[in-house]
Amino acid sequence: MNEHSKKKCRCCQKTKTLDMFHRLEGTAAIHPFCRPCLGATSRRRAALRGTRRTDTTRACAQCDQELPVQMFHWLRASGSYHSYCRPCHAAYMAERYRRLQGER
Ligand SMILES: [Zn+2]
Ligand SMILES: [Zn+2]
Repeated sequence: MNEHSKKKCRCCQKTKTLDMFHRLEGTAAIHPFCRPCLGATSRRRAALRGTRRTDTTRACAQCDQELPVQMFHWLRASGSYHSYCRPCHAAYMAERYRRLQGER
């Protein structure tokens, strides 16, 4: 398997094959966290079930993970957090930029 099909997870810092990463819907971008790392956050979310909802976490509209609000951009204009987490937003913007540049 060649090196290009591997990616280093930004959460656990381990290099894994691309199929271990969540692909962002509708784009060629890949989430910087591997599936086990994302899974860890969703398990924590399940553990919180039944408890009162707090404002300290938020579900990402792209990767569907419950993440701390620090992982989201604050949109001052709308007085709320971005619906994509920072990693998804960064991956989305990188993909959009790549598309605007045109594929070579
Ligand atoms: Zn990881
Ligand atoms: Zn996300």
